[in-house]
Amino acid sequence: MNNPLFELLDRLEATRSLTTEEYAVLIAGRSPELAAAAAKKADRVRRAIYGNTVFIRGLIEIGNVCKNDCLYCGIRRSNKNCSRYRLSTDEILACCREGYPLGFRTFVMQGGEGGTIAVDEVCRTVEAIKREFPDCAVTLSLGEYPTEAYRAMRNAGADRYLLRHETADKAHYEMLHPKEMSWENRMRCLTDLKALGFQVGCGFMVGSPYQTTELLAKDLKFVETFRPDMCGIGPFIPHKDTPFADRPAGTVDETIFLLSLLRLVKPDLLLPATTALGSISPNGREQGILAGANVVMPNLSPQKAKENYTLYNNKLTTGAEAAQNLADLKARMAAIGYEIVSARGDIQRINE
Ligand code: SAM
Repeated sequence: MNNPLFELLDRLEATRSLTTEEYAVLIAGRSPELAAAAAKKADRVRRAIYGNTVFIRGLIEIGNVCKNDCLYCGIRRSNKNCSRYRLSTDEILACCREGYPLGFRTFVMQGGEGGTIAVDEVCRTVEAIKREFPDCAVTLSLGEYPTEAYRAMRNAGADRYLLRHETADKAHYEMLHPKEMSWENRMRCLTDLKALGFQVGCGFMVGSPYQTTELLAKDLKFVETFRPDMCGIGPFIPHKDTPFADRPAGTVDETIFLLSLLRLVKPDLLLPATTALGSISPNGREQGILAGANVVMPNLSPQKAKENYTLYNNKLTTGAEAAQNLADLKARMAAIGYEIVSARGDIQRINE
């Protein structure tokens, strides 16, 4: 085919690299045909490394107290309508005890920052999980910390850390965050986490306010050069009690196209079909898997946590989203030709 867009896609598959300008041309040129071709390539590339397996992560929303005031986020500190909670170590362990027999071998502790849980408590909880479930991986997603805090978490046994970069562009970062947060610090955190030997996840929202095609192209270039082990992307979804309440949500179509491009940029990526994707479309998760994602993160949190950990409106909390309904999720994945497996699901790094 000598359509230049399809040629770019071929070159991306072959070389895993394009210029930022070329990424922008691909993103802007999305059509149903181009997206279908990208998904087909992404599926082939993923199957060569991970087969048809889909890894599961048990998500535990450990608390929504947050010192940050990110403009897009429903648990931002200035949202007075958010009813705050935090889980104790025992409550977190109870989630793991529920998840293990269901087949979960990764537990993700996610929460707000600075107030939900102190660093030494994070460490004690990680140690307790690892002691009771030595064959499981522990992933943390607790935001920005000083280097020494990350070192302590790693020494306590945490295996992975998810910290979305949110946007690879400093000026855009500043439009989404209050003055006291900085893009440089976010980058410092990601570099530290990698140096400390965590498997590291970055990521961004699709359709966030002020985002342009060029900015998304920078995100792809960032993934190409930073080389994370995981990358979490999902549509931006407005929350009524935030300054971005009236902004439009990101779309399923753009998100799944970007999932395919990310798979081609870094074939061994652990790439989740996120809750946000499932929340804006009834079969969003399936579409994500078909387009190249290979991870789903069902929610193991207690009901009070699920209800109050509201980053955006209309978040899925029941149905296949609940870890307790894993059989339903398994059936949905089987129906499209994929198999949910009970394994830690570490990255299978390919030689480059
Ligand atoms: N506090 C930690 C941090 O900042 O990394 C972890 C929790 S934070 C709420 C997890 C992610 O949720 C953020 O990185 C952001 O990308 C996503 N998020 C927040 N608000 C959102 C919204 N309105 N729509 C979609 N995703 C959102």
